[in-house]
Amino acid sequence: MSRPRNSGRKGFPARVQQVVRQRADYRCEACGIWVIGRSGGACVPVVRDGAGAISAGVPRDVLAGPANAVLLCPPCAARAEAADPRLAELGFHVPGGDDPRHLPMTLSRGDSGPRTVWRSADGGYLTEPPTL
Ligand SMILES: [Zn+2]
Repeated sequence: MSRPRNSGRKGFPARVQQVVRQRADYRCEACGIWVIGRSGGACVPVVRDGAGAISAGVPRDVLAGPANAVLLCPPCAARAEAADPRLAELGFHVPGGDDPRHLPMTLSRGDSGPRTVWRSADGGYLTEPPTL
C-alpha cells in the first residue's frame, strides 16, 4: 500500500520558482549543497502564515513572490517544515505576520562563508535592509 503523494500542497508559480533557483545559483540557500533540476530541492515560503501577513498589510504578490521564497534541499525543507530552531535563527522560516522583504537570512555557500542578505521582490539579494 503506497501513501498518496502530497500533491495538494500549494506551491509557488513556476516562474517564481525559476527566479528563486537562479537567485540561489541552484544551491540550497540554507546549507549550500547543489539542488539540480526541477525536482531537486523545493521553493518553500519563509513567512508561513500568509493570511496573518495579508491582514498585517503585506501585499499578496510579495507573499507569492521571490521575496517570500527560499530554495532548500530536501533535508533542509523537512527541517523548515518541522520549524527547526536553527533554520529559524538563520531566517529561513518565521511563523507569520511579517513582511518577508524585511527579514534577513544567512546564506551558507561553503566557499564564501556565511553572509546575511535580504530577498528583494524581483528575485535578487540585497546586502542591506530595503527601505520600503
Ligand atoms: Zn540544505
